[in-house]
Amino acid sequence: MWSKNRLIGGTLLVVLTLLLTAGLALAQGGNYERSETLYTTGNAWSPPTDWNPITNWNYATGTTGLCYETPFLYDPLEDEMKPWLAKKGEWVTSDTYLMDLRKGIKWQDGEEFTAQDVKFTFELGKRFDGVYYSTLWKWLDEIVAIGEYSLEFRFSDPLYQQWENYLYSIAIVPKHRWKDKSQEDVLSGANKNPIGTGAYRYETHSQDRMVWVKNEDWWATDLLGREVAPKYVVDIVNRSNNVSLGMLLQGQIDWSNNFLPGVPSLVENYSNVHTYYEEKPYMLSANTAFLFLNLTKKPMDDTDFRKATGFAVDSGKIVSNVYGHIVKASNPTGLLPNWSKYVSEETVDEKGFSYDPAKAKEILDKAGYKDVNDDGFREGPDGSTIELTIIVPNGWTDWMQSIRIVRDGLNAVGINATVKFPDFGNYQDKIHAGTFDMAINNFGSSVSNSPFTFYEWLFQSPIKDRMSNGNFGRYENQEVFDLVTELNKTPTSDTEAMKETITDIQDIFLTDLPAVPLWYNGMWFQGNTSHWKNWPSGAEDTPDHMPSTWSGYWQMGGLLTLTELEPAK
Ligand code: MG
Repeated sequence: MWSKNRLIGGTLLVVLTLLLTAGLALAQGGNYERSETLYTTGNAWSPPTDWNPITNWNYATGTTGLCYETPFLYDPLEDEMKPWLAKKGEWVTSDTYLMDLRKGIKWQDGEEFTAQDVKFTFELGKRFDGVYYSTLWKWLDEIVAIGEYSLEFRFSDPLYQQWENYLYSIAIVPKHRWKDKSQEDVLSGANKNPIGTGAYRYETHSQDRMVWVKNEDWWATDLLGREVAPKYVVDIVNRSNNVSLGMLLQGQIDWSNNFLPGVPSLVENYSNVHTYYEEKPYMLSANTAFLFLNLTKKPMDDTDFRKATGFAVDSGKIVSNVYGHIVKASNPTGLLPNWSKYVSEETVDEKGFSYDPAKAKEILDKAGYKDVNDDGFREGPDGSTIELTIIVPNGWTDWMQSIRIVRDGLNAVGINATVKFPDFGNYQDKIHAGTFDMAINNFGSSVSNSPFTFYEWLFQSPIKDRMSNGNFGRYENQEVFDLVTELNKTPTSDTEAMKETITDIQDIFLTDLPAVPLWYNGMWFQGNTSHWKNWPSGAEDTPDHMPSTWSGYWQMGGLLTLTELEPAK
């Protein structure tokens, strides 16, 4: 999801030139009736090359969501799991989960969808280690199909929070078409001509687009009375956010999930362009941007220094100057707005932080950080020089501006810090290898069914040579690692127990502040009403879904958005 943050700067001239090119491409590529076709963009940054739901970091836009479907959907706005391919799911004992499937669902080739398909899909993780959910089999014993439409999942050590996450993440594939696939095919095959249960079938693709056509026999129309409005969904590969902006304003794009510059004035000046909220923050929140501090290096290994950093950074300035208020400053806990019920106000009051340079200076003074050589910057308590570098990937202009504000805040309290913009590969290598000082990152803090996924990333353990799945600052604290495991083992229905554990985690987080939450990155959404109307919004009498075409988000509102759209004319 990181790639959505890219904003490649360009002049109006560049925009217009690219726009003309884009317009030509559209004119050449489409034989689809405009009134029946929905143009989307903001997810794909390279040509579509695979339709394999197992390659969930690479598949063409909509592979899971439009073509393949999941047992449940998750609605982050209501914080609610919605039965989908499954009619119902429940824990019948503490370690047995019973799933009842809907009857009457058909694969796009006409075959019946049954419990055997679900069993087969989950068991792919048992057969092949490389399947992203294979670790499930460390705590799942067996799956028993009971008749055609029910399954029992029997667990050795149920991880309830992770399980619920899988229920809306794992796309079910047809056993009859997949049973003879080799390991290589399952793990990395292109899976051309995908056959799912979903609302759309594969139509065609080219270098710059993915085209889906409506599945007229989609089960949800009969069983749930839901119908997707557009006959065609054409997802355009992004060239830059500025090109997407031009196409959106021209009505060549109906639905953009790009980070676009100047959203407040767009909304004001273009009456056919809409965001989720009509005024700030304009966008729903999608993830939390953190300033990671490398705890294996001085002075970031010092809790006082980290806390001073929290008070020194002006998140409000990032929100206004960099984002023009299309994002919100983060709560000190970093927990997203959809998890606000888990925020312990008491803990935040006692141990939270906010922008307060005087307080930052006071903490640094007390901890012995003083300018002993009169160069204008503080030295460490042992007299050693402090020279820190803050990094984000080159070209990610919003983050580049943000770390200049972080640097200014640190400089203002006497900390010598500079900014650097390595290319993305180099940036990623530095955070994985732990060779950075400070870096912004949000890769695993996405909105989900549970703060568990957020903490699993923030406190990824154990600490290894390369940390590629989170905890980039290498914060080592067994107590909090154990609490994250305890949270995972808490049934999702036991909100009180979840709150207790999450309160304990917040307390440790705010006591040690291993990373500084800065702002909630937005679920960037711009809808154009020239061809399609009834977009989701925060206003009354409009659909309430998270309108996102990003991979993993169709199940969190994108698909239901398609069932609410109406032709404008
Ligand atoms: Mg000095």
